[in-house]
Amino acid sequence: MTKHIACGDVVEGCAFMASASTEEALLKQVSQHAAQAHGVKEVTPELAAKVKAAIQTR
Ligand SMILES: [Zn+2]
Repeated sequence: MTKHIACGDVVEGCAFMASASTEEALLKQVSQHAAQAHGVKEVTPELAAKVKAAIQTR
């Protein structure tokens, strides 16, 4: 099973996709992407909840 996320599910219009074997690794990729692409300096609990809700496992 792999965990996937489409940033477009959180940030409208973004085409970034990531996958990882653990949620922790996935969140790391997403936070790096968010910092570079969206200028997100800090992942707030609110944002983390949105991201976690968008994670798909398949
Ligand atoms: Zn994005």
